[in-house]
Amino acid sequence: MKAHIAKETPRKESVSTENDNGSEQASLRGAMAATLIGDGLIGNKQSNQRSICAGCNRPTPTSCFCVALPAQRIHLERSHCLVLQHPHEARRKNRSLPFVQHCLDSDSLTVHVRKRLSKNTDQTVKDLLYRPPEEANERSNVWLVYPGEEAVSLTEALEQRRDDNSRITLVFLDATWKYAKEMDRYNIQHQQYPANMLRVQLAEQDLAPLLTRPCRFDIRTPPTEQHLSTAECVAWVMAQAEERPDIYSIIMKPLDLMVQQWHSCKETRTTNDD
Ligand SMILES: [Zn+2]
Repeated sequence: MKAHIAKETPRKESVSTENDNGSEQASLRGAMAATLIGDGLIGNKQSNQRSICAGCNRPTPTSCFCVALPAQRIHLERSHCLVLQHPHEARRKNRSLPFVQHCLDSDSLTVHVRKRLSKNTDQTVKDLLYRPPEEANERSNVWLVYPGEEAVSLTEALEQRRDDNSRITLVFLDATWKYAKEMDRYNIQHQQYPANMLRVQLAEQDLAPLLTRPCRFDIRTPPTEQHLSTAECVAWVMAQAEERPDIYSIIMKPLDLMVQQWHSCKETRTTNDD
């Protein structure tokens, strides 16, 4: 069992886990969910002898990204981010979700580490998921950001709630593409999702500004150039939902620094090996 939460600020998080097989990190881009594959980012024989930063839990000074974290954590006014994380994803080293966890305040993020939703799901998570509609038209205030036949684009979903100030629960699945599909399928088959949940997928129009540059979190090899890391996907959707583009750039700052550090470590190792 492992809670990968900034130590200085406990967050509302469920950390119960179950036994299962391997998991990696998934994210969404376009109508597809992404799987970022790779391993052994900073973990090498020397890492055990390095000191670990109490802020970001990374080896310091080579891999600490605290300098890139915001002075004040982001507070989401119009949404709450609920991440349903596969247990094996929680144990991976090369995750991007910690960048989101280090940048959001405790009232804005809940991470639930379980393979599936069930009657035993924590009450905090249930409260976020099974919220009664706040409007007479029963417009959903729970959005699952995951592709599916009935999914609407993010642009369309935002258009539908124009002038609506109720707080949305933004639900993300954090797992490999394979495990995310399993989580989604189970929750559908066992009717674990709220009845009025809106399924949202990132269509090309939603991601136009991101499609012109190469993969950002390239320490794990994505299956295609068009895949986003979990942190980038979550940051992008939150920024749109909150109408705050700075949310995306604040979260990308430590992520970019970590990727940069990883590349320079890799170059150093290559040079030493020559
Ligand atoms: Zn640090």
